[in-house]
Amino acid sequence: MQRGSNLGRLGGYNQAVILDAIRRAPEGIARVELVERTGLSPQTISNVVRRLVDDGLVREDRKTVSGPGKPRTVLELEVSSRIAIGIHLDPAVMTVVALNLHGEVVASTDHRMPGVGEPDGIVSQMADAVETLIATARLDRKRILGVGLAAPGPIDGIEGMMVSPPMLPGWDRVPLREPLEELIDLPVWLDKDVTAAAVAELWASDRDAPSSFAFIYLGTGLGAGVVLQNEVQHGSSGNIGEIGHFPVPDEVPLCECGRRNCIGMSLNFVTLIRQGIEAGIFPKNHDEQGLDGTTAAIFELTSMAGAGNAEAQAIVNRAARNLAFVVAQVANVLDVQRIIFGGPLWDGLAGVGLPPLREEIQKHFVAKDIHQLEVVGSDLGEQVGAIGGACLVLDQAFSPKTRGLLLET
Ligand SMILES: [Zn+2]
Repeated sequence: MQRGSNLGRLGGYNQAVILDAIRRAPEGIARVELVERTGLSPQTISNVVRRLVDDGLVREDRKTVSGPGKPRTVLELEVSSRIAIGIHLDPAVMTVVALNLHGEVVASTDHRMPGVGEPDGIVSQMADAVETLIATARLDRKRILGVGLAAPGPIDGIEGMMVSPPMLPGWDRVPLREPLEELIDLPVWLDKDVTAAAVAELWASDRDAPSSFAFIYLGTGLGAGVVLQNEVQHGSSGNIGEIGHFPVPDEVPLCECGRRNCIGMSLNFVTLIRQGIEAGIFPKNHDEQGLDGTTAAIFELTSMAGAGNAEAQAIVNRAARNLAFVVAQVANVLDVQRIIFGGPLWDGLAGVGLPPLREEIQKHFVAKDIHQLEVVGSDLGEQVGAIGGACLVLDQAFSPKTRGLLLET
């Protein structure tokens, strides 16, 4: 919980702090409790709340009785008053979701990615997907705050473009943000899918996030989204969290960077399938099936491991050991309180992967005698990228940010 400031022209920051406190109280919150939680004066609270009610973001038409004394009027978030749209651009599928202010999905659609290897037309496909969602779910356009686009890295966050993502050959410098804004006439934010997933944990998860955590995203690539002291970290260009070339103790196939011990190659789908072929789990040539076939094979591998197949378990355990070795270093560098695993691949891996990951990470975590490090799986499922995209919009619109504080003083 962040505290407000009663000094100076801090209306925007204070409003965000108050809205955040109301958002975190689904049962409603009385003004006097807002004073306690935010440290703001009753006068400031009163002014800001009036503005929030006028804007339709907050309602105050319900009273509660708790303990002695007269019933209190409680403030509640008007969850349907604004909508955020998220798009996840994945090499295999494009997912579009609409969220309310509680971070709940109110509408979603999936589209096959017809143009892998062919970036032309992707912006108009995204625009069509957004317009279709708005039309079919009958969303009120006036309530839509904007669109958050979660894309595989690397990105040029300043220019709003994707720059040579590994699984999309031919996508050298693909401008996305501005062309999409022009087509749909809504503000657009672009971030890496891993960062968006971390933002989703802040806005859409049922559990409270600790102030500092890392989201380890397992999909066609591997990356870390980082939140430190309640703020989403982006780095200078939007490319924080590129952990794919961290070294692991195992020897693994040659990486494009020229080394034979990169975690990215250790977890690469083709690497795992080849290990399955060597172990006799998969027939020969099982590694030449394109993206869809490869993804299906990985789910087959993890479900075999879950069902007790010893060879499959050995492959998954080896991958988990390598991943844990790297993730422990990430936790050590950032001094976070929680590691969250998620992404499209995680659901298949969670059952067999989480126990060994948890054990290995704790073993290598340096500050374990000082504070606890939780290791958990995301509860947001395979839509976490798209949900995160929409949460980028919520975070931009409503999050109390210290940099906002600096700008306004
Ligand atoms: Zn490498």
